[in-house]
Amino acid sequence: MTFRDDLDLAADWAAAYIERVGELPVAAEVAPGAIRARLPESPPERGEPFSALLRDLDEVLLPGISHWNHPRFFAWFSNTGSEPGVLAELLVAALNVNNMTWLASPAATELEVTVMDWLAQLLGLPRGWHGQIEDTASTATVAALAAARTVRPGGVVYASEQANFSVEKAARLVGLEFRKVEVDAEFRMRADFPLADATAVVATVGTTGTTSVDPVPELARRCEEAGVWLHVDAAYAGSAAVCPELRWCLAGVERADSLVVNPHKWLFTPMDCSALWTRRPEAFHEAFALVPDYLASTEGAIDLKDYGPALGRRFRSLKLWAVLRWYGAEGLRELIREHVRLAQLFASWVEAEPGWQVTAPHPFSTVCFRREGCDNFELARAATATGEVFVAATRLNGQDVIRLAIGNARTTEDDIRRTWEVLQSAL
Ligand code: PLP
Repeated sequence: MTFRDDLDLAADWAAAYIERVGELPVAAEVAPGAIRARLPESPPERGEPFSALLRDLDEVLLPGISHWNHPRFFAWFSNTGSEPGVLAELLVAALNVNNMTWLASPAATELEVTVMDWLAQLLGLPRGWHGQIEDTASTATVAALAAARTVRPGGVVYASEQANFSVEKAARLVGLEFRKVEVDAEFRMRADFPLADATAVVATVGTTGTTSVDPVPELARRCEEAGVWLHVDAAYAGSAAVCPELRWCLAGVERADSLVVNPHKWLFTPMDCSALWTRRPEAFHEAFALVPDYLASTEGAIDLKDYGPALGRRFRSLKLWAVLRWYGAEGLRELIREHVRLAQLFASWVEAEPGWQVTAPHPFSTVCFRREGCDNFELARAATATGEVFVAATRLNGQDVIRLAIGNARTTEDDIRRTWEVLQSAL
């Protein structure tokens, strides 16, 4: 078999998978250790054909795969391994460049900077910010706090009690104290806490629990006055800003110091791809720039390794470029609008049904709801055990609730309708 033959096999596998993923049981139902027990204990002494790996992918691994690409995957923040993203990942591996410095692969650096500018335009962000791609929002937030620390060392990082736990982890990693700020009745961070000892405030646009939006304009004003860094975590909801009618969610962000949006959440880009912008690149440079003799910089060029924690950098911009070109602004808007419409439709069914309640505002594509008189963690488990849907539960104000997070480009109204039927009959 030649590489071309194997490519055909891989292409056939991927195409067939995408076509049939909706028919597979969406969540893996295996006991811990079951997949490992079916894998050889040691690597093969002799090389094996690629077809042997594909066979084991089907027979051994697939039963243990939870299908994030399934149109009825609604757990956590669902996402999409879109066609352009899948294709571009293949090309990224074929090129296998390491985008640590401009010299290491000039086109990779220049495409990254360009695609980040394109995305800034699509989201209505200010032009001229420095943008780069990190693996995850977790890393982007570590980078932002490390930059903030160069401006005001030794202070506290404030974020709401609804902020993603990656913010606390990032504070811990850069050696800053972390304090939680209370939220209001709609799960938004209160803006009236003291800032005197702060290094940074992290505001969330689209919290993990309910997708609430913190009062960024007010926080930006207070941070500006106090000389405190404002980082905005819009990992999920930032993508909504491709639609002008949803752009309110990024109001005030133009006055923030840094911002993260994850195209690998709600912008149809396969894992991993996290977009980080800053209007203060010099602080990132101070936090991260080191120039060893073997990586001398090039006059007039930017070396992205100097603006983030990693030296080795994947060519992630190629897949974001592929996604933005394949869908176009129009296609992205259409999908985001459809997801918001489906979420509102689902919420209206829940609200109309006696014994069920919607438990938080739902401005985007995620709905938190509960059935009264039962354990909603149990209900989510029972619904997921049908193999037809994947939903996860959480706790809000001490109450157990289920989250339906719509984010897959292949999800249709029929999928939402079926999910509602499954939920109503699961217990
Ligand atoms: N911020 C928010 C609001 C999130 O919901 C998440 C993950 O769901 C993160 C940050 C962390 O994202 P990542 O997995 O890219 O680190």
